Amino acid sequence: MSDVEARQIERMKSVFDAQKAAFKAGKVRSLSERAADIAKIETMAKEKAEAFCEAVSADYGRRSAAETQIAEIGFTIATAKHARKHLKSWAKDRSVPVPMTLAPGKAYIRREPKGVVGIVAPWNYPIQLALAPLVPALAAGCRVMIKPSEYTPRVADMLKDTLGELFSEDHVAVITGGPAVGQAFCDLPFDHLFYTGSTHVGRMVAQAAAKNLTPVTLELGGKSPTVIAPDFDVEEAAKTIAWGKYFNAGQTCVAPDYVLTPKGSENQLADAVIANAQKFWPDPDSNGDYTGIVSERHYKRIADMVEEARAGGADIRQSATPTGSNHHAYPPTVVLNPPADSRLMTEEIFGPVLPVLGHDGLDEAARFINERDRPLALYVYTKSKATARDFLDKTMSGGVGVNVPMLHLSVEDLPFGGTGASGYGAYHGEDGYRTFCHERSVFHAPVWHPIRLMAPPYGKLFEFFKKLQAG
Ligand code: NAD
Repeated sequence: MSDVEARQIERMKSVFDAQKAAFKAGKVRSLSERAADIAKIETMAKEKAEAFCEAVSADYGRRSAAETQIAEIGFTIATAKHARKHLKSWAKDRSVPVPMTLAPGKAYIRREPKGVVGIVAPWNYPIQLALAPLVPALAAGCRVMIKPSEYTPRVADMLKDTLGELFSEDHVAVITGGPAVGQAFCDLPFDHLFYTGSTHVGRMVAQAAAKNLTPVTLELGGKSPTVIAPDFDVEEAAKTIAWGKYFNAGQTCVAPDYVLTPKGSENQLADAVIANAQKFWPDPDSNGDYTGIVSERHYKRIADMVEEARAGGADIRQSATPTGSNHHAYPPTVVLNPPADSRLMTEEIFGPVLPVLGHDGLDEAARFINERDRPLALYVYTKSKATARDFLDKTMSGGVGVNVPMLHLSVEDLPFGGTGASGYGAYHGEDGYRTFCHERSVFHAPVWHPIRLMAPPYGKLFEFFKKLQAG
């Protein structure tokens, strides 16, 4: 461990102790204080939008400002607005019915802040994935430590500075650093740990959290399939598939990873996807709307995957020739029929490369998907509601888009999370609020409650209660 990392970890531990002490000492933050906390995030996102766009672009080499605006700034603002609007109703006690034998007592659920929570964020949407969980954590009344990714250091520093101006360190703090810091961060006995990142690291995070019995949310990745039903026009599907796949150059956890299209339509789909990509992002090397690959290492990983598939006999279509010379921009690519054991078909691609395979019907497509890990998202294109429902009955995934990729995550009231290898737990909207709350059960008996009569020696009243219980 370097000296810098040792210092980062030392600071992290003292911030954690300060947050724990403040939570123990402080009264629960009022709803108006929490609403004000969230409003600060909203204002920050609006006022610093341009600076955030520049920071993330500098970290990436090139990140489309429009994509940062839509997926990070706009998303954060919408999350904060929604939380402010619904905070009061989320925070209300929930009355529940009591059994007849316990009447006239009252039972209810109190939603209380869990305490000090940790948020670990990845690089692919470094602003959204730090701030969108921060909002519900603040709404719940928690104290929060955030560990951004080392791949986006300018954004990490900016989050540290801007949040540092808005909140005291014992309320919200940003801890910068790489995997060693991340590991030490996840070793802390948080009251909840919220992790977004790869499945590989997610397993280590779950093990670290288990040692402290820290509840953990794992927002992981995976290979999100897209399936075109025989009743759907492939040219039409290609438009939104191209948009969803190449937005942020495919570096999106819910991007379509691969497509299963009716046998015989593979070529038509591949050509249409590439034609749309050329229309959306002409000349990807110099196009400011086309995002680069975050690092040289990831660029090479993607280029190597394509070359491995080519060597295995796959047909490669690209919207331009990759040069690697400008901001690591890897062009929109379709790979027809990559070998089943190639990395393109066995690993999450997380780049602008779309494998296309043929299917013999939706049953076969469902079998193909079910033989693999449960994905974070699944997309099905069909004109028929019944076909869509039937396909969902046959498969599992964290979330679903019918006839369009990715947009389900923008619906605030839909829980967003994975299943199986794509993670567990969920957030967005009220689910985010509940993630950072402990739901405390209360039974409140009146001063004189008839249950007292149940004390031994058991007699006639006991017989009466027995009858009541038996219904
Ligand atoms: P990553 O797992 O490499 O890193 C994520 C974070 O974990 C970083 O902050 C990193 O510093 C930290 N980290 C690294 N090693 C650690 C360790 N041993 N212990 C604790 N923390 C550690 O992921 P990434 O490459 O930044 O992100 C890409 C992955 O994230 C993809 O798999 C993608 O699908 C997934 N993702 C999921 C979602 C979602 O909402 N489900 C959203 C975005 C990205």
